[in-house]
Amino acid sequence: MTFTTRFAPSPTGPLHLGHAYSALLASDMAAEEGGQFLLRIEDIDRSRCREHWEDQIYGDLGWLGLEWPVPVMRQSLRLSTYEEVLRDLWLRGLLYPCTCNRRDIAAAAGAPQEGVPLHGPDGIIYPGTCREVSDRTGPMPTDTPLRLDIAKAASAVPELFKMTSQQLANAAFFEETGTGPEGESGHIAFTAKELRETIGDVVLARRDMGTSYHLSVVLDDAAQSVTHVVRGQDLFEATRIHVLLQALLGLPTPMYHHHRLIRDDTGKRLAKRDDARAIAKYRAEGVSAGQIRTMVGL
Ligand code: GLU
Ligand code: ZN
Repeated sequence: MTFTTRFAPSPTGPLHLGHAYSALLASDMAAEEGGQFLLRIEDIDRSRCREHWEDQIYGDLGWLGLEWPVPVMRQSLRLSTYEEVLRDLWLRGLLYPCTCNRRDIAAAAGAPQEGVPLHGPDGIIYPGTCREVSDRTGPMPTDTPLRLDIAKAASAVPELFKMTSQQLANAAFFEETGTGPEGESGHIAFTAKELRETIGDVVLARRDMGTSYHLSVVLDDAAQSVTHVVRGQDLFEATRIHVLLQALLGLPTPMYHHHRLIRDDTGKRLAKRDDARAIAKYRAEGVSAGQIRTMVGL
């Protein structure tokens, strides 16, 4: 299979040095392997995505010297695919509607005797308030967020958690060629119990979106035959959700390469609003693409 990787930005602000690093690294890896580098626009959050940011993504990446096949995949054009998959999961009884708001979740998760609520990849781990009480029969609701019942999902794919030789019993896994935030590398195993306790019932259909980052990224990586996912370490924890979804949906699990995050002078990771390190700003100042490579350590 041809080495295929991608850069998948959301057009919600200017690309900064962290994005430049991620895109250049992915493209370099593809070039080294004689593979392909794809671009995908992750624009499911219509309230935050803007056309001018998308135009600037093409401009900045082209200026950096990157090339990708066109037309690019855009998530906003794939909503019917996401909906179809959600319906399948709904019919399998793996989703349930959740009407809790942030405050409800914080209150339920943070009962004083239990101390500080635990955080997962999507924030506070959902305490499960709606899991047993919401109705999973009838047509799939489209006006409420839908959560994945992670315990039921894990038991729906027993083959994922089968015994792996002398290693952890009943563990699923993925292969990491980069490093996680704690230096995790190689064979990354996790149990169904860990999924329940450290991830919880994540939202797969967000309000007014009809999908979520997790669902779309898994379906799109598969649709684009991505063999190597290159992305920041901030997404390392979420990878276990992606592996579970791949198993539930009968999709292959690609290799993962999580990379270090580019930080500012105070050690904080760059955010979208970090306009000070926007690629556009360096371009306007006459910095060269080669100098950007040096700045991010490539
Ligand atoms: N769209 C995601 C982001 O901008 C990246 C998704 C991924 O690489 O898996 O953070
Ligand atoms: Zn709820």
